[in-house]
Amino acid sequence: METQTYVGGCHCGKVQYEVDMNLENVMECNCSHCAKKGFLLSFVPATQFRLLRGEDALSEYRFNKKHIAHLFCTTCGVESFARGTDKEGAETIMINARCLDDVVPDTLTITKVDGKNF
Ligand SMILES: [Zn+2]
Repeated sequence: METQTYVGGCHCGKVQYEVDMNLENVMECNCSHCAKKGFLLSFVPATQFRLLRGEDALSEYRFNKKHIAHLFCTTCGVESFARGTDKEGAETIMINARCLDDVVPDTLTITKVDGKNF
């Protein structure tokens, strides 16, 4: 799969972003948070991510070690991405592949991650 520019965002349209990524590694995690939100996740360096609009529409949720800023739209409640850092401390964006335009989740290869038992 090639790197492409995707457009994604929340449901109501207040939050919108562009991201350069390939969707080769999409994961579905069974931890308490991912399971409830039904995420299909992919991680990209922050340099490949551009928030087009909606910074002021975002609210933040943190839990457990509080390393990841889970950002959801205050109007529609959809979490289309999150901000965090990788093991080396580099800024990383977690993309919710379900929130990308023109991506059909059923066509993706999904890796199941056992986050519940980490
Ligand atoms: Zn919204």
